[in-house]
Amino acid sequence: MKIKHNIENLIVGFDLETLDKSKDIIYALSKKLNIIYFNPSWLKFAIENGADLDAIKKYTIDTPISKAIPNIFRKFYLEKFKESLATGKVWRFDYECSSAETFRTFNQITYPLKNGEGLIVVNRIRVEMPMSKTNRISKKALENSYLHDTGFINQCSNCRCVQSISDPEVWDWVPDWVKDMHPKTSHTICPVCYDYYWKYYKIKFSPSGF
Ligand SMILES: [Zn+2]
Repeated sequence: MKIKHNIENLIVGFDLETLDKSKDIIYALSKKLNIIYFNPSWLKFAIENGADLDAIKKYTIDTPISKAIPNIFRKFYLEKFKESLATGKVWRFDYECSSAETFRTFNQITYPLKNGEGLIVVNRIRVEMPMSKTNRISKKALENSYLHDTGFINQCSNCRCVQSISDPEVWDWVPDWVKDMHPKTSHTICPVCYDYYWKYYKIKFSPSGF
């Protein structure tokens, strides 16, 4: 109860009850970017997607969010969260979070708290449909096509496509390895994801008009 009481004092501009009831996947971060709250939908989604309770317990209250973000995207997310905190501006961001069978995209909306004490991060589902209904070409999990001389399969940590051997510029969707990771997987980042999330992530959106 003590933790909840403190959170209610911190979260200014939202009712905790609203966040608790929401079907959106929501968590809150303190000014130091530590997790200070997550809602029941967040917990439900984590469990439905294979996270076990022991893993979830690791992300209990006051864990830095940086620990929950893969290495490759840490800088991107932390800078964006800090910018939202510093400017008081809402940060909107779309991302894909598909499984082998389901194509899914989310809209993430980061709201700075009115007292400047932290952020509310809302993940709202935008699109959810069977992968078979999309035009994404699925490739078979063949080591001959994807196991490199290094002895590893290179899988992008973001889009989860794997790099072809015959043409290293080609990254294919291989659902079997999304479902069950190949034991010799090297987590890397494909060139397109690299440009957006790493190389040019600091360039601000500035529409050029018509
Ligand atoms: Zn990628």
